[in-house]
Amino acid sequence: MAKIIDGKQISQQIKDELKEEVKKLKAEGRNCCLAVIQVGNDPASSVYVGNKKKACAYIGIESRAYELPEETTEEELLSLIEDLNQDSGVHGILCQLPLPAHIREEKVIDAISPEKDVDGFHPQNVGALVIGRKGFVSCTPAGIIELLKRSGIEIEGKRCVMIGRSNIVGKPMALLMLRENATVTVCHSRTRNLKEICKEADILIAAIGKPQQITGEYIKEGTVVIDVGIHRNADNKLCGDVAFAEAEPLASAITPVPGGVGPMTIAMLMKNCVEAMKNGSADK
Ligand code: NAP
Repeated sequence: MAKIIDGKQISQQIKDELKEEVKKLKAEGRNCCLAVIQVGNDPASSVYVGNKKKACAYIGIESRAYELPEETTEEELLSLIEDLNQDSGVHGILCQLPLPAHIREEKVIDAISPEKDVDGFHPQNVGALVIGRKGFVSCTPAGIIELLKRSGIEIEGKRCVMIGRSNIVGKPMALLMLRENATVTVCHSRTRNLKEICKEADILIAAIGKPQQITGEYIKEGTVVIDVGIHRNADNKLCGDVAFAEAEPLASAITPVPGGVGPMTIAMLMKNCVEAMKNGSADK
């Protein structure tokens, strides 16, 4: 029987810690503000943006919403970002992805000042992670490290297998596990013998983007299984990249979907925002 890693509870703990911290900072006259930009009205993005605003309100972070129409030009969006970069009242800037096809995601990521890049997507922050310097780290991988640590799971010396190499999950996750002294293997769509490699893992992290792909055949007994995926199954219920019913009896610990990795992403975004404020990003 695996220990269920409760992301809901751990993320709540982090939000409560931040709430206390923000309260103290407010008492010193320091207010934290996050600018959230959404272009168009993709329903999934609207849910994510709504959840981010709710988390801000809970912790005591001011959130400024910029809801732009679908036909917003790249130039207009870049100009708004530049204004927010210059605005000393804004500490963090987040532009909800994906963007409409006529706007280049890369241009937008590059335009956000690295000091206000609370998503951790700017090349300067990614580079800082690679060479072990201070910077903002992508929220989902950072959240997984918190989940492991706060669940008392040792990382050092462990064999970690990361399935997926995306810029927002797989690559930063692999680098963070390396920073924590795990021995890391990164797998992707061209990997040969995926099952055999996964079976070597002490900690298996699945970000493959395919529902319930990682079945019991991929899991060695006693492995810690972290499921990053979020999908809707045929019954419209949420499920992950891992076939939970098969994996759970084999794993020593496992994250459920929902209630595992998902809630950690927003908690870490909030943490980055408070960090940006403490770094004085808006007051320079
Ligand atoms: P992605 O950009 O689609 O990347 C998927 C990765 O899986 C790619 O690196 C791909 O390899 C690899 N892959 C695909 N098929 C494979 C196969 N058969 N064998 C081995 N590797 C394979 O996805 P992502 O953005 O990293 O997200 C992954 C999942 O996490 C999605 O379900 C997403 O919804 C979810 N997600 C959740 C959160 C959260 O807050 N919980 C945040 C972000 C993402 P190639 O590079 O070779 O194509």
